[in-house]
Amino acid sequence: MLNNNEIKGTAPIGALVKTSLVDFPKKVSSALFLYGCNLRCPYCYNKDLVTGSFEDFEAVSFDDVIAHLQKRKNVISGFVISGGEPCISPYLKPLIAQAHGLGYAVKLDTNGTFPEKIEELLKDKACCPDFIAMDVKTSLDKYQLLGCKDTEKIERSIKIISELPTEKREFRTVLVPPLVDMDNITKIAALLPKDASWQFANFKPGNCLEDSYNKIIPYTQSQIEELINSAKTIIKGANLR
Ligand code: SF4
Repeated sequence: MLNNNEIKGTAPIGALVKTSLVDFPKKVSSALFLYGCNLRCPYCYNKDLVTGSFEDFEAVSFDDVIAHLQKRKNVISGFVISGGEPCISPYLKPLIAQAHGLGYAVKLDTNGTFPEKIEELLKDKACCPDFIAMDVKTSLDKYQLLGCKDTEKIERSIKIISELPTEKREFRTVLVPPLVDMDNITKIAALLPKDASWQFANFKPGNCLEDSYNKIIPYTQSQIEELINSAKTIIKGANLR
């Protein structure tokens, strides 16, 4: 099955959460966090995955993941491929194809910087994700703070994902104070489809990629409610996860 020179069945590719109740809506799933990311979000909690340091997590190989999926296929119905950014991984398509072959529904988590890869996957029946969750991290004018210069790609990914049926997509935003305030919420909302599921999470300092972000004080509960209530006036499906 692995016929690409870039990929090897036994090489470490990421970290596996064997059972998750929170990563795939309405499904018990396994979640694979693939190594490597093209962005450098200062608040990123997955810095070991982003930087490729395997010291702080138990790395698994492609073969380990497929063996796990084979073993658990009667008790788990969903397989989440997250990161890092899965769209940069040569393992993405073989993982989706193998998981589909074993009967799993596959969810892809992406930062939206590779619209051409998302289109390619959606056109390929064997590798087409059953659900896509895209992080919309801030308004387009602040994406350079994450190391993203080409915000047209973010807009294109939002458009492509917006064309999926509502039950097959969601958009997500972490409420990081310097990146997401009331103005940013309004600007992000203008990019999303009106029927979007828009899932917010609060920011948790402590293990951020950029140390200065560990000193940022998260929003209070009442500030969070105010931001989400404002989001709800534009996108009804805005919620705190
Ligand atoms: S938050 Fe996501 S997109 Fe940003 S650096 Fe971390 S893994 Fe990459």
